[in-house]
Amino acid sequence: MSHRPVCGQCGVEMQMEKSGVYVLDMADFGPYLLWLADLFRCPKCKAGVVAGFADRPCFRHEDGQTFTETIDAARNRGELFASRLYIEETVKEAP
Ligand SMILES: [Zn+2]
Repeated sequence: MSHRPVCGQCGVEMQMEKSGVYVLDMADFGPYLLWLADLFRCPKCKAGVVAGFADRPCFRHEDGQTFTETIDAARNRGELFASRLYIEETVKEAP
């Protein structure tokens, strides 16, 4: 288990806001890797960060329909973050 993130502005430990959010990595051809992680937020300034990643991606492009369906479901729940935006209207940047 790793240390909780510390806010660089406030110097306090961030609190977990949601366990089990997804981060999508993109490749030149499109969506590539999907990672599970946690969303933390600073209790003072409310800055957010996604951290606590699993050791390996939970799904890959090669997983086909499961990969796509997991991305869509996470996006619909507001739990999808992308390291590079690919659909600006539907994927929000990491806070
Ligand atoms: Zn802060």
